Amino acid sequence: MLYKKLAQLYEELSSTTKRLKKISILSKFLEYLSNRDRDIIYLLLGRIYPEYDERKIGISNQLAIKAISKATGTSEEGVTKMWKRIGDLGKVAEELVRKKTQSTLHSHIITTEKVLENLRKLPELEGKGTVGKKLSLITELLTSASPIEAKYLIRTLIGDLRIGVQESTIRESIAITFFKDKKASEKIQKAIDRANDLARVFEVAKKGKISELEKIHLEVGKPIKVMLAQKVLTIKDGFKALGKPCAIEYKYDGFRLVIHKKKKEIKLFTRRLEDVTKQFPEVVEYVQKYVKGKSFILDSEAVGFHKKTKEYQPFQAISQRIKRKYNVEKLKEDLPVEINVFDILYYNGKSQIDKPFEKRSELIKKIVDNHPYKIVCSKQIITSDEKEAERFYKKALKDNQEGIMMKNLHAIYQPGSRVGHMLKIKPEDRDLDLAITGAEYGTGKRSGWMSSFILSCRNKKGEFLEIGKVGTGIKEKSEQGISFKELTEKLKSLIISEKGKSVKIKPKIVVSVTYQEIQRSPNYNSGFALRFPRFIALRPDKEVSEISTLEEIKKDFENQKRRWGYG
Ligand code: AMP
Repeated sequence: MLYKKLAQLYEELSSTTKRLKKISILSKFLEYLSNRDRDIIYLLLGRIYPEYDERKIGISNQLAIKAISKATGTSEEGVTKMWKRIGDLGKVAEELVRKKTQSTLHSHIITTEKVLENLRKLPELEGKGTVGKKLSLITELLTSASPIEAKYLIRTLIGDLRIGVQESTIRESIAITFFKDKKASEKIQKAIDRANDLARVFEVAKKGKISELEKIHLEVGKPIKVMLAQKVLTIKDGFKALGKPCAIEYKYDGFRLVIHKKKKEIKLFTRRLEDVTKQFPEVVEYVQKYVKGKSFILDSEAVGFHKKTKEYQPFQAISQRIKRKYNVEKLKEDLPVEINVFDILYYNGKSQIDKPFEKRSELIKKIVDNHPYKIVCSKQIITSDEKEAERFYKKALKDNQEGIMMKNLHAIYQPGSRVGHMLKIKPEDRDLDLAITGAEYGTGKRSGWMSSFILSCRNKKGEFLEIGKVGTGIKEKSEQGISFKELTEKLKSLIISEKGKSVKIKPKIVVSVTYQEIQRSPNYNSGFALRFPRFIALRPDKEVSEISTLEEIKKDFENQKRRWGYG
């Protein structure tokens, strides 16, 4: 397909903010999209591969500026200046290409295949000369592009497409294009959850048969989105929501690890679907040795413990193990982890996700040979008794864990959903996961570093809404935790625009913060502000789509009033 056609679609989609209009525009497009062109679905989401594939385009603003400069003959300073004025590198590219094409005869055409071909080469490049090679792949496209094509090429490259299309928009469009049945959307979602590949689901959905969608199964080795929990305040509320008896487990303060085994091969994925197998060689060994089965997918929490005292450690103590790919052997000794298995999604050729939790839990106990400080089944009781549950909760806290999880014994495993049948309870639940969406450069001894960070939550539409600023908890020196310098370096490549000392940041980085209180506030567009927020940890394991929502914050605000009422 001509890239021009796709760019026109992008334009049409961004000309409206109405979701239904977007769905109808997309639907017309999908109706005529051939199987040969199915990978365009990835481009619609600003991606080049299915969701289960972690290869990303990953081009920084700086490299995009270089490419625009090279392709249009404007100096890098000139491009940067325009960017600061307009605030959108895509539009900068559009304007500059327009100026250039007025003086030359524009005759090249680009196809979506060529765009995908070049973009897919980008994440493969490594080592010496990488920047130069990336630059020529991008400029090859840009020099042939029309102004509008250039706009969307640049936006795709820097991961900021701005057309307001999400997975759910495409799901709804597929539903109305190929099915009359209102329930189709639910079935399509299930297929998406199992395949983690929207283009594949599109191809199957085109046949117009629900039964075909149901044939899409989980595949060992391909990461899947995990099931997420909802929050309740008390054990009583938990029982009310789930019924009695239910399973209660420790809520370990670590990070989610999904373990796949296929033949002899073990792979480990985070909840962001990142492959971290290389970072945890000891876990691979534990799974080989202590878990029975030819093939399986296990859901677990990796939790750190002190190498000498064996005391459990909070998440931030081990978080660096997730990203660090060098010195793995030393890290493995210094920051050991224990794997707590709490669910199973697949076993010896059969999907387990539609079986009740009770059965899945029994299966884990059969196949995992408990080896404390290596790999164990997560601590669990099954009870109807509130007092027993309270005692278990206290024990979890004494063991340095965050709280408890309450689980419905009959519930299925729903990948990718925040479900009401798995509940979390934490004491003093005054912490949130938020995204950094802005920052301010400091003065005095902090000049040159960003020293105050704007935090945002999300609303239902997926928009980011500001809720406060944090500076406390970030350190002057990196040995004591994350430093201003390190955080500044991380955020620099994500700057969208700058004004004086303030910068807008592309929401990519998730942080955990605590606070004393939530207040109503006209100062932030969420309508709320956090009092005394404090930075606790970076969450490299969490996706920005998983941060706290405005609805959850409203609930916390109401609950805090309720607590005072009693206190
Ligand atoms: P939160 O990150 O606050 O939404 O809490 C949910 C997270 O708790 C899950 O995503 C898991 O990573 C973690 N977790 C710890 N222990 C368990 C458990 N026994 N069952 C399920 N999730 C657990």
